[in-house]
Amino acid sequence: MALHQVRGREDDAVTDIYSTPLSGAALPKYRVPDDASDPRVVFALIRDELALDGNSAQNLATFCSTWSEDEVHRLMDLCMDKNMIDKDEYPQTAEIESRCVHLLADLWNSPDGHGTVGCSTTGSSEAAMLGGLALKWRWRERRRAEGKPTDRPNLVCGPVQVCWEKFARYFDVELRQVPLEAGATGLQPHQLRDYVDENTIGVVAILGVTYTCDYEPVAEIAAELDAIQAEHGWDIPVHVDGASGGFVAPFLQPDLEWDFRIERVASINASGHKYGLAPLGVGWVVWRNADLLPEDLVFRVSYLGGDMPTFALNFSRPGGEIVAQYYLLLRLGRDGYRRIHQSCADTARDLADRIEAMGPFTILYNGTGGLPAVSYTLKDPASAGFTLYALSDELRMRGWQVPSYPLPPSRDDTVIQRVLVRHGISRDKIALLAADLEEAVQRLTSGTAHEESRSSFHH
Ligand SMILES: *Cc1c(COP(=O)(O)O)cnc(C)c1O
Repeated sequence: MALHQVRGREDDAVTDIYSTPLSGAALPKYRVPDDASDPRVVFALIRDELALDGNSAQNLATFCSTWSEDEVHRLMDLCMDKNMIDKDEYPQTAEIESRCVHLLADLWNSPDGHGTVGCSTTGSSEAAMLGGLALKWRWRERRRAEGKPTDRPNLVCGPVQVCWEKFARYFDVELRQVPLEAGATGLQPHQLRDYVDENTIGVVAILGVTYTCDYEPVAEIAAELDAIQAEHGWDIPVHVDGASGGFVAPFLQPDLEWDFRIERVASINASGHKYGLAPLGVGWVVWRNADLLPEDLVFRVSYLGGDMPTFALNFSRPGGEIVAQYYLLLRLGRDGYRRIHQSCADTARDLADRIEAMGPFTILYNGTGGLPAVSYTLKDPASAGFTLYALSDELRMRGWQVPSYPLPPSRDDTVIQRVLVRHGISRDKIALLAADLEEAVQRLTSGTAHEESRSSFHH
């Protein structure tokens, strides 16, 4: 009797998924199989494999959306076939993208809501590339007009996310990363003088530093650049990397001036899929006005007999995330975003208080004034009796993903830990985390910790 007769056939509705031939062997890894298989079986086996990924609800490392309401799932499903680059075929998706740009420009206090330009991207990384390219092009145009050399552009920034290092390398710009001063977690305005010059295409200010989650002082950075301009004549624009903060500050810190209220702020990027609450795959970049986006970076595509400007690194891209972003802006409104982010910020504050009360930790950022998050370090690493890396491993055994990593230079001897509180992470869940954290510290300091985590003492 042939094996498949004994074990059942994949396309036999009566056969249990786990007794089909496909489920009786490891799934192909190096060669596409010759034959088709039953979708139920393939689906089940892939679903089971995906279950081995970490549980995103316990992933306190990511800034990205891990929870969406049912309507978002339904809109995403409706949009499966929409290619956002096909403005001709999907003019309403294009229209919705354009509405989002204008809503964001207004949210970021553009002086000229209807005249701003911007676009969606795959995330803040692509948005940063576009923002950086516009800075480079404008600097080069200015230098050419003055008959000056254009071969040595530089970009000045503090502890930026890796996308800015990529921008600099891919587009041939020198990245001047200002080292952290003792006690500081971001760029200090007074440091700028030593780093900017006539070849500086712009300064990046971060609203929501990836390491610690506080904001860099955008207004003070701009004021320092005003002073530098008065002294040297260099008119250096600011690009705000608001990957997270661009969708937090307008709701939680409406009086903080970090956006287009500051004249020197030329462009802003934000990740729709972080505190914008959209599903993964959408970012935004907006310029203060159309003059700041050089014409020769923009490609014209035909659009319903008219002409549609596009500026993007990608071509085909799904439209669903953009539509979901529009849904969320309408569905939640300013008050909805404020309530969600405020409850996350309150939870972060509560966690910071609990962690501080445990004893061995110094809070670097307690969840107020910046993103809904907490970052902390060991008060005295030499005498704590454990490392933060070992603590991360202990927490991982309960499923929590809480990252530990060093600060950037010149504070790279300081290892910190960070917890992000986002939509879908409740006060109760964070209370459970705090209890697990406290127990883990007790195990680590009493020498009863799991062997594996003690071996990672030598990270
Ligand atoms: C996450 C992040 C980025 C990169 O954004 P993606 O949307 O993941 O591409 C850039 N800058 C900062 C400050 C970030 O937090």
